[in-house]
Amino acid sequence: MGIIDNTRLNLTETSGSSRWHSRLGHINLDALKLMMQKKLVFGIPSMTLEKKLCGSCLLGKQSRQAFPQATTFRASKNLELVHGDLCGPITPSTLAGNRYIFVLIDDHSRYMWTALLKEKSDAFNKFKRFKSLVEQESGASIQTFRTDRGGEFMSKSSVRFVMLMGLNDISRLHIPHSRTVC
Ligand SMILES: [Zn+2]
Repeated sequence: MGIIDNTRLNLTETSGSSRWHSRLGHINLDALKLMMQKKLVFGIPSMTLEKKLCGSCLLGKQSRQAFPQATTFRASKNLELVHGDLCGPITPSTLAGNRYIFVLIDDHSRYMWTALLKEKSDAFNKFKRFKSLVEQESGASIQTFRTDRGGEFMSKSSVRFVMLMGLNDISRLHIPHSRTVC
């Protein structure tokens, strides 16, 4: 038939715009229009642009439901539940060369302790010192320690940790899905 320019075959194609929208990475309609008018993309036919709802785009724009800001559980006495978090590395590090901030919060009193660390791995030893200090001072003992930084506490020394905590069960070391307090 000797057709040289195939764009004319697509003039009446109605689903073309949806197909090109998908083909070009779900591009928005205005950009597609511009590409078409200015012939920015080789092979793009001239077509009627239809505003159609695209399922993939709708799904992509949906946001995940936010994590709850607070837990429903609240400890009823001091040291029943202690939250721990490790922030950093901070840049530049402090003059003393510390790069991490270790934060511990008592769930009941909301009392907060902070310590500066050079390395993440120092958290375990810092926690040991914190635990003996607060237990001595208060006469109570930490029942549950909750952190989302499980790696710093679990990897090498989980068994040691549980023994040290005087906990019977590793499940008392609670590593939640999301940050809850700090
Ligand atoms: Zn789309």
